[in-house]
Amino acid sequence: MDIMYKSTRNAQNQVTASRAVLNGLAEDGGLYVPEQIPALDIPLSELADMTYQETALAVMKKFLTDYTEEELRYCISHAYDSKFDTEEIAPLREADGAYYLELFHGSTIAFKDMALSILPYLMTTAAAKNQEKHEIVILTATSGDTGKAALAGFADVPGTRIIVFYPKNGVSPIQERQMVTQKGKNTCVIGIRGNFDDAQTGVKKLFADRELKKELDQKGFCFSSANSINIGRLVPQVVYYVYAYGRLLSMGKIAEGEKINVVVPTGNFGNILAAFYAKNMGLPIGRLICASNENKVLFDFFESGVYDRNREFHLTSSPSMDILISSNLERLIYRIAGEDAEKNAAFMEALTKTGSYRITEEMKTGLSDFVGGYATEEQTADEIRRLYEKEHYVIDTHTAVASHVYHSYRQTSGDSAKSVIASTASPYKFARSVMQAIDPSCAGLGDFELIDRLSDTSGVKIPAAIEEIRTASVLHDQVIEINEMEAAVKRFLLS
Ligand SMILES: *Cc1c(COP(=O)(O)O)cnc(C)c1O
Repeated sequence: MDIMYKSTRNAQNQVTASRAVLNGLAEDGGLYVPEQIPALDIPLSELADMTYQETALAVMKKFLTDYTEEELRYCISHAYDSKFDTEEIAPLREADGAYYLELFHGSTIAFKDMALSILPYLMTTAAAKNQEKHEIVILTATSGDTGKAALAGFADVPGTRIIVFYPKNGVSPIQERQMVTQKGKNTCVIGIRGNFDDAQTGVKKLFADRELKKELDQKGFCFSSANSINIGRLVPQVVYYVYAYGRLLSMGKIAEGEKINVVVPTGNFGNILAAFYAKNMGLPIGRLICASNENKVLFDFFESGVYDRNREFHLTSSPSMDILISSNLERLIYRIAGEDAEKNAAFMEALTKTGSYRITEEMKTGLSDFVGGYATEEQTADEIRRLYEKEHYVIDTHTAVASHVYHSYRQTSGDSAKSVIASTASPYKFARSVMQAIDPSCAGLGDFELIDRLSDTSGVKIPAAIEEIRTASVLHDQVIEINEMEAAVKRFLLS
């Protein structure tokens, strides 16, 4: 059965999966959603014996129905290979009564690699299938990790260019260094004087600008997105929840059909939405626990039914979650509004105009799968130290937010279902915050001294992604104002 994708803001706007991947964002500003969530329809017992690659094929062929199985096999085998430093691709580590799903073993050591190592293959395959003659320009806003993962995926891929906008003062020093040292003639990395929300809003504006679209069309370019607004990012993220369930079965930790909880440190709501899709495919998931840092707009939303971005923005030690406009929440709002594009569009318009909206009581009942929680900066640091002292396991700041929220949920709710915590980044990416949490005497050390100290402390080998940037030269040093994004794009493409 073919699954088509429609816009959350206009039911008339329907495209194939490969077209949705190419477009990134729908023309009306909406996000593409599958017209229905396909069923997993393989016996759970079989999951236990499947490799990551086999699981990926089983899940992705259900969603991306206009790709042939051969095409998907090609994409999967090229994406999930020795770029990952573990054979399992996504190992599951048990610590202190929870299961940490380590999603950071790819080439840029954050979970963004799970989807962004396959997106370039899905994209170029889609371009060939749709006889797309334009050069594809990937426009990306990043809170720190998407940028590098997308750059690594798209660097020197023929027929593509990639432009990344990051908040100049809103990413970790390691994250920034990873991006500004990126090689590849088709790459462009630009710092903006603003935060992630400014970058993301700016990118969405460029997508919506018809004049610009026409001008670039004539010069042979079209835009697409590597952010989780692209369905080609979301679908590969469903895979690892299914895979984790299989691992728990094969490890004998759960019985077939036993429900697990999933805990996700959340920013743009992409990763947890993928878990929600996995649940809707039939994977036995109980609660979806949405963990925020001090930018707890989602926690407040789950509590009150009011989404309100009018609040102070905090720069935290988990910068990839410093987000007040969680784009992918739109896909959930659309769904709990009864897949009513007009109703959803009205909420999104209110968000743009006033910065907030309130959902109806009826819609609230659609949120019962979700639990919100958050961690303060102090609780995040305490959790890193606690887990290290108890288990000798070092986690990054984002994972620590989730870990704190999980343990406090478990204590207050009494819900002791086995739980998988999405471990979204290597601690090496946030070495300063992590080492300061474990050993405050590290405060005076330089970034790479901290890396070496972290290696001694954790006993984990320094990843290649870090060794690479120690001596790499800076190749991108542009910093611009928010209102200069369009000019910067034109400069890169047309000069
Ligand atoms: C992007 C990111 C997140 C947030 O994921 P969303 O899909 O945006 O909710 C959490 N942790 C890390 C390390 C990230 O890079």
